[in-house]
Amino acid sequence: MSPSPRPREIGRVSVSEHPDSGLPGNRPPAPVRLTLTAPRRAKPPRHLADLTMAERRDAVAELGERPFRADQLSRHYFGRLTASPEQMTDLPGGSRDRLVSALLPPLLTPVRELACDGGTTRKTLWRLFDGALVESVLMRYPDRTTICVSSQAGCGMNCPFCATGQAGLTRNLSTAEIVEQVVAGARSLAKGEVPGGPGRISNVVFMGMGEPMANYKAVVAAIRRLTSPVPEGLGISARGITVSTVGLVPAIERLAQEGLPVTLAVSLHAPDDELRDTLVPINTRWKVAEVLDAAWNYAAVTKRRVSIEYALIRDINDQEWRADLLGRLLQGRLAHVNLIPLNPTPGSPWTASRPRDERAFVRRLESYGIPVTVRDTRGREIDGACGQLAARDREDRKAGAR
Ligand code: SAH
Repeated sequence: MSPSPRPREIGRVSVSEHPDSGLPGNRPPAPVRLTLTAPRRAKPPRHLADLTMAERRDAVAELGERPFRADQLSRHYFGRLTASPEQMTDLPGGSRDRLVSALLPPLLTPVRELACDGGTTRKTLWRLFDGALVESVLMRYPDRTTICVSSQAGCGMNCPFCATGQAGLTRNLSTAEIVEQVVAGARSLAKGEVPGGPGRISNVVFMGMGEPMANYKAVVAAIRRLTSPVPEGLGISARGITVSTVGLVPAIERLAQEGLPVTLAVSLHAPDDELRDTLVPINTRWKVAEVLDAAWNYAAVTKRRVSIEYALIRDINDQEWRADLLGRLLQGRLAHVNLIPLNPTPGSPWTASRPRDERAFVRRLESYGIPVTVRDTRGREIDGACGQLAARDREDRKAGAR
């Protein structure tokens, strides 16, 4: 077996050579290890969800079938949420297996499912065709159901407080691998497997493993599939979708031009470059001011309020003077702050802020007229909370213990 290719790092290789990254390569090398371009790996099998409606019709025609079979197949997948040939009784028996094996290959195999909150929070560990592992988390609330999806296996952004970041980047997910996580969640909700009766997915957040803006093309195509009406896609409102990023400025600028009114979340975590350089290492390339400029441009173009994500870390970024600095940066902007009590990751000395420091931070921000929410820590007991997704690492440890 040939050794797998080494991930290319920004510090050594111009990032502009990768057509998908959407990033210019004319910046000086960063001193930290950051992987923006995914290692080249074998591609997952082609799937209907990778394709536009027109491409699906072509693909079906290439199989010697009538093009309208693409619509039927799409209705089964996106409308009835099925990929089993037995259920596709409107397709001729002889064509079913051929169409399904060509266009609906299984992409995700569940390895483990963990639930908490009385079954309303469920994390699934998926194995992909090449053995890569990713996780998604379904969270049902009284008024909505959110699925948190992965956009990459691993992550190259190397944020020191995030479990996913510690394992590095394995590869980008394909559009269909992203969409399949949502379809799988939609299927189990529709079947009534989640307490609360049969339901639908209202929100999708790209806050699982990976940096969505470093897998730009697949993520944007996935958003189009999620938001297009059946049979083209799942028919979820774009307003229910949130893309969270460390702040890849050129990609944020590009996203603003896509005509997709999704919510942008920026993982800021510090208002000053000195601290942000260490907490979110990509800050050594795009500074706080540049990231926020891109965010305000995004808000102006899309009219969508930007969410500023800020994990409160005890005695690291939770001082009142930092709340003041943040308040001054955000005052009068179309933004709200989402504070996340840090979920401690194994081996890290960092922990969540003291409750009184958290309260003081909230009050200080609110004094600037900024809307503030403190995120709940759903899924914490199943390692399904923000920044805890680290499938590869845990699988390796388990294998080592056998
Ligand atoms: N790469 C993207 C999306 C994935 S992370 C991004 O960084 O935005 C989703 C959110 O969880 C980000 O805001 C991230 O900073 C935050 N996060 C990561 N590790 C965390 C931890 N240990 N505790 C709390 N939040 C964390």
